[in-house]
Amino acid sequence: MKVCVIGTGYVGLVAGTCFAESGNDVVCVDVDEGKIGKLQQGQIPIYEPGLEELIKRNVAEKRLAFTTEIAAAVRVATVCFIAVGTPQGDTGGADLSYVKRAAAEIGEHMDGYRLIVTKSTVPVGTAAMIRKILAARTKHDFDVASNPEFLKEGAAIDDFMRPDRVVIGTSSQRAADLLKELYAPFVRTEQPILAMSPESAEMTKYAANSMLAARVSLMNEIANLCDKVGADVDDVRRGIGFDRRIGQSFLFPGVGYGGSCFPKDVRAIVQTASEHGLDFRLLRAVEEVNEEQKQVLVEKVKSHFGAFLVGMKFAVWGLAFKPRTDDMRLAPSIAIIERLLAAGAHVHAHDPEAMHEARRIFGDRITYHRVNYDALEGADALLVVTEWNEFRRPDFDRMRGLMKRPLIFDGRNIYEPEQMRQHGFTYYSVGRRPVAA
Ligand code: NAD
Repeated sequence: MKVCVIGTGYVGLVAGTCFAESGNDVVCVDVDEGKIGKLQQGQIPIYEPGLEELIKRNVAEKRLAFTTEIAAAVRVATVCFIAVGTPQGDTGGADLSYVKRAAAEIGEHMDGYRLIVTKSTVPVGTAAMIRKILAARTKHDFDVASNPEFLKEGAAIDDFMRPDRVVIGTSSQRAADLLKELYAPFVRTEQPILAMSPESAEMTKYAANSMLAARVSLMNEIANLCDKVGADVDDVRRGIGFDRRIGQSFLFPGVGYGGSCFPKDVRAIVQTASEHGLDFRLLRAVEEVNEEQKQVLVEKVKSHFGAFLVGMKFAVWGLAFKPRTDDMRLAPSIAIIERLLAAGAHVHAHDPEAMHEARRIFGDRITYHRVNYDALEGADALLVVTEWNEFRRPDFDRMRGLMKRPLIFDGRNIYEPEQMRQHGFTYYSVGRRPVAA
């Protein structure tokens, strides 16, 4: 099948590459000339495990190409995916200006039947809006479908290649058949392709992210209460996770969720609700809890040292909003580091992949270290902010030798308190009793 993907970001690049990998001819389009220029030269603009190899193979086999010329891409493709950003707008709802522009351009350049599919996360009613935009610009036959994406950065290829389910929202049989054909290679182990109305598909994506964000905030509040009452959130997590009605995933407390999806999608659904006269109180609280949770680690630092951290040196391990990505959009690390800097502290940071992003955000206000141990030299404490695997089993003796004090504030509970005590550290985590060296 001939496919074009408009918007070559975390979602569009992965989707386009995976469609090419299953034998389709794919053109990925972006307005960002720098990004497309890099891709045309074989450089991958984002970090996503496994992506580079797939892109290189599919480009070499001429199934995958990159362009800024949307007209040419739309002319060759039967199916046009819209995977542009839908950032938070001024009122909290999704800013659909990129989606509208992409739809208008498809409408102007299509020269026969096209299936236009939104992969971007868009509010209910967007498929209908796109239909109107297209109808005003073309005489050709077309269908519109909603096909929300559920991939996770850091595991995006695997998620796309082996989705738990595929959601297709369309009222057209032809569109549903085309999408089922396109997705058939990815659902060979009987994962369902769920056909529904565009409205239900659009709502499904927001419902999924709301549910997950709510679990994170609920567990964070449970952890904060564990801190107060002397319970251990790890035990509590196990105690509830084996209940099949609850399940094990998304039960880990921490420093709050970030990234380009949960924060904006929770706000967008609250906004959609309010436009329909509903006050989505629960999700407003989910967001509020999350904002406060980003402060929990610095609060622990301050209750250990006192409010003034002037001249103190803190090592921060982990900047990306989660492991295995370089994405720092709304990462909790930003709020944490800003708060440390505001209190007069010096920050020495390390992240395996996100340092270039951090430089864009903090410039020379913090110091960057390519090697995680280097950040520890003379540090008053270490803050663990992202749970990268490479932080899980470090050389604790070496760490203790480098640091001014053996003190760790672990925002992701990646170490065991008792082991940390044995290693000679004073150790604070989230929802578990602190231990003293
Ligand atoms: P991104 O910012 O990484 O990429 C969006 C790309 O679209 C950018 O490269 C931008 O230059 C390009 N673009 C904007 N307008 C364009 C136009 N008119 N023509 C061509 N290109 C254009 O965003 P992302 O993280 O890939 O997210 C895209 C959408 O997918 C969002 O709606 C997001 O909510 C949703 N989503 C994201 C994830 C994720 O993990 N990142 C997961 C599921 C869904």
